[in-house]
Amino acid sequence: MDIKTIDINKFKRIVFFTGAGMSAESGVPTYRGEGGVWHEYNWREYACQDAWETDPEKVFDFHDLRREEALKCFPHKGHELITTVQEAHSDVVIVTQNIDGMHQRADSKNVVELHGSLWRVRCQNEGLIKDDLNHGPFEKRKCNCGAWLRPDIIWFSDMLNPDTVQQADAAVTQCDLFVSIGTSGVVWPAAGYPQLAKSSGALCVELNPQPSELAWLFDMVYKGKAGELLPQLFKL
Ligand code: NAD
Repeated sequence: MDIKTIDINKFKRIVFFTGAGMSAESGVPTYRGEGGVWHEYNWREYACQDAWETDPEKVFDFHDLRREEALKCFPHKGHELITTVQEAHSDVVIVTQNIDGMHQRADSKNVVELHGSLWRVRCQNEGLIKDDLNHGPFEKRKCNCGAWLRPDIIWFSDMLNPDTVQQADAAVTQCDLFVSIGTSGVVWPAAGYPQLAKSSGALCVELNPQPSELAWLFDMVYKGKAGELLPQLFKL
């Protein structure tokens, strides 16, 4: 495929917008696609507030498995390339829909996690958010205050964290280069970001083996895998 290299010095603010496809290439299962988690599990029993209130231990067990699966996988060349772009440019934000922490494991900074993280918990009583970076299952399921520590993840029907949304909105509105990678563009409100970037005047690029629902609004659409396309798009 003929890929037009992007010179990062021509852009003031860069946003990488990533979805499940970015991590799928590392081996993290997707949710909806072929072999996806929701074919095996009913999300109503594992990934919504009702499920949590009915059986928190069952919901914790499910998320322990997600942590285990993520730990078996490693960042790929695409994650590394994004880190290299960050090291070479002063204003690069990653807005991700992924909860697996793969960008941080590739040493990326400025990661805005729209849908939360498998590596954080939130005290149900005090509302405090804490890291749980134990290399395996969650270290603790209950807080010192006695309340449950809820995985800090946006489940079905949850509202996004307003501070996180504010950070993502600001980054996307202000960027002049927006690179969307491995997202189908069907999960809202995240799916609104390509349009926001476009209407804010950014050059919009999509990388995906199957062009997304939103491919029509991108200035450049490259069909392929993130780990192969990113190093060709940015020669650093
Ligand atoms: P999605 O599952 O709806 O779509 C994945 C997209 O990735 C598809 O368009 C597919 O063509 C593309 N893709 C597959 N392999 C790719 C590759 N090697 N390179 C580039 N693209 C590739 O994903 P979504 O749009 O992110 O929405 C799914 C939702 O599920 C999100 O809310 C996300 O939070 C959540 N989720 C997260 C994880 C994770 O943390 N790793 C995994 C599964 C789902």
